[in-house]
Amino acid sequence: MKPLIIPFFISHQGCPHQCVFCDQERISGQSAGLPEPSGMVGTIDRFAASGGGRPLEVAFYGGTFTSLPRMEQERLLEPLQPLLATGRITHVRLSTRPDAVDGETARFLRARGVTTVELGVQSMDDRVLEAAGRGHTTAHVEQAFAVLREAGIRVGAQLMPGLPGDTSESPLGSLERVLALSPAFLRIYPTVVVAGTRLADLWLNGAYAPLGLDDAVTLCAAMLRRCLVAGVPVIRIGLQPTEELERPGTVLAGPWHPAFRQLVESELFYGLLERLAAGVPPGTSVEAVCAPQRVSDVVGQRRRNLARLGEQHGVSVTRVTGSDRLSPYDLEIVYAGGTIAGNLVGA
Ligand code: SF4
Repeated sequence: MKPLIIPFFISHQGCPHQCVFCDQERISGQSAGLPEPSGMVGTIDRFAASGGGRPLEVAFYGGTFTSLPRMEQERLLEPLQPLLATGRITHVRLSTRPDAVDGETARFLRARGVTTVELGVQSMDDRVLEAAGRGHTTAHVEQAFAVLREAGIRVGAQLMPGLPGDTSESPLGSLERVLALSPAFLRIYPTVVVAGTRLADLWLNGAYAPLGLDDAVTLCAAMLRRCLVAGVPVIRIGLQPTEELERPGTVLAGPWHPAFRQLVESELFYGLLERLAAGVPPGTSVEAVCAPQRVSDVVGQRRRNLARLGEQHGVSVTRVTGSDRLSPYDLEIVYAGGTIAGNLVGA
């Protein structure tokens, strides 16, 4: 059973840096401050009451947990210890910077029940990290992966394609280097320009141009496909829509879309539709068959995939049908001449 996540936000607390793209409060939608340890058990109880018996996972989101003074880290993890001991909580996860973890920190976290650490990797290109003001290098990423794994902690990574200094190809190179470290999962956040950040100044001065929405979708579709092939789950693509992010004047530029992941998954299916349609004579009418939950991805927003296939390949999709027989990665094209089957993960 999927664990129920109980989120605690630590916002910008603990981070001595100021990355060019970062305004933690606006991005996470949470105001500054640490959770009050005395209230944490009550929050956990409230979530558990509506959790339907699912296992519970406490997650510290935002900021840089391991840059907090060790005493604060202790204070935040301490209320969880009795709940971990009785099995009431089964997992604890937190996020941090790669250069804020060494072997001793990793062992400290594991001893306090932390099971997953998410690293803000963002890029595996030192030039890009420097231009983004990250204050760490790719060597820190490799070392953090190594010490966390040695301590028995699962390691996930966040990547941000489209940072200053990125080319259209370099995010795929970063992805390959991260995949070589065997992450447990990834999150992919294409860079957007948020008001009040240094990136906003760069953009206003013409010194930075973000990815356009279509380019970001194409790039993230290629990244997602590579992860599917590698068997690494991508648990989020695109920033979580929040009231703050959606308020006019917050996102100034860049590939922001509240349903960004759906655009990306739809693009993946368009690529597969194109590959399968290549085996059909132009002018043919076909039916597309996919897993029921994928019908809208195959059709695309405002039927975009079907329209494009007609315009670009002369193949008309008359119907898209869901079938429980197919996995979420499968697609079939059925026409008078037979059936052509394909898979997002296959060639
Ligand atoms: S390390 Fe994280 S919290 Fe700190 S400035 Fe950069 S993005 Fe923001």
